[in-house]
Amino acid sequence: MDPLLMPDNPYLLLTPGPLSTTKTVKSVMFRDWCTWDDDYNTIVEWIRRRLVRLGSDTDEYTAVPMQGSGTFCVEATVTTAVPQDGKLLVLANGAYGRRIAEIARRCGIAHAVQDSGELAPPDPDRLEAALKADGAITHVAVVHCETTTGMLNPVTAIGNIVKDHGRIFILDAMSSFGGIPMDVKTMGVDYLVSSANKCIQGVPGFGFVIAKKDVLAKTRGQARSLSLDLYDQWRTMEDHHGKWRFTSPTHVVRAFFQALWELEEEGGITARHSRYCTNHRILVEGMQRLSFQPLLAAELQSPIITAFLSPTHAAWSFSRFYADLKARGFVIYPGKMTDSDTFRIGTIGDVHAEDMVRLIDAVADAMACCREK
Ligand SMILES: *Cc1c(COP(=O)(O)O)cnc(C)c1O
Repeated sequence: MDPLLMPDNPYLLLTPGPLSTTKTVKSVMFRDWCTWDDDYNTIVEWIRRRLVRLGSDTDEYTAVPMQGSGTFCVEATVTTAVPQDGKLLVLANGAYGRRIAEIARRCGIAHAVQDSGELAPPDPDRLEAALKADGAITHVAVVHCETTTGMLNPVTAIGNIVKDHGRIFILDAMSSFGGIPMDVKTMGVDYLVSSANKCIQGVPGFGFVIAKKDVLAKTRGQARSLSLDLYDQWRTMEDHHGKWRFTSPTHVVRAFFQALWELEEEGGITARHSRYCTNHRILVEGMQRLSFQPLLAAELQSPIITAFLSPTHAAWSFSRFYADLKARGFVIYPGKMTDSDTFRIGTIGDVHAEDMVRLIDAVADAMACCREK
């Protein structure tokens, strides 16, 4: 079968990942690879170098891919980076921040949580006070784009405080890396975690950590797990020219290589960011015309995913709205907040302005049907 003759997807994914990917990204998975052969490992090494370049223009960082979903990489980072006598401070304002704390709890890592609630970004002053008051804290972790609400957290301000106080900074940039320009060095980041299936627009199967080399180099023997040992994964890749320790998701890696090329062809992260911003603007303006209100104020909102307040009238049913939109070719996302009733629409992936215009028409149709019923 000619891969380019594959049937079209029945709907577009407007979710925070996995996302709609291009046909070409999917098509390059139509061959098999040997994991210890040069052909394959050359691709892995190219990918690692390219990831470092996307995050920084210095040579102080390395990129370490890790099997599994994004959470596996957050867990690999936290459980490798924080030593036995270390303590992690988590700044949480949503489900993904809380998940970092949960990883620490499950793995017996000393930790503290500053929870600013789902509607407020972490407070840099409160962070500074905690770092001054508690000398035991060695690491600070925060989410960049908190996908629960779509909020963009003030990570540069946070990173600068963490660095001023000589602590290690872990950033979950899962849903933003590749879609929002960022520089790990300026942000004071020691470990940035992201995954193949978000803004780079690959398919799911692995994530990666962009880590400061001298910091990662000191973590030998610290990991609480064999398979999630970030240090060992890094050393094996360095010493064996891109070899993964255990079976690697070869097809997914090949698709990711293609996705990185397509990011380049699009004009890099700046161009992708501007496409996502356009998608987001069309979405919000269109939804507002249809009387939907975004949860967040515009200045807190990312172009990645937008939470809308569910209508309060009796005829509203998210599951019917979801099914109506799916039948019209769009899959949206339920809310994930503890206190507000919301639903979410993603604007990332192989999704373009004309798709967002069609989406707004579909929402208008779905609402008209819902009123008739
Ligand atoms: C998607 C995401 C993750 C990881 O989720 P997985 O389902 O494990 O891939 C982690 N943090 C944030 C902010 C995310 O958006």
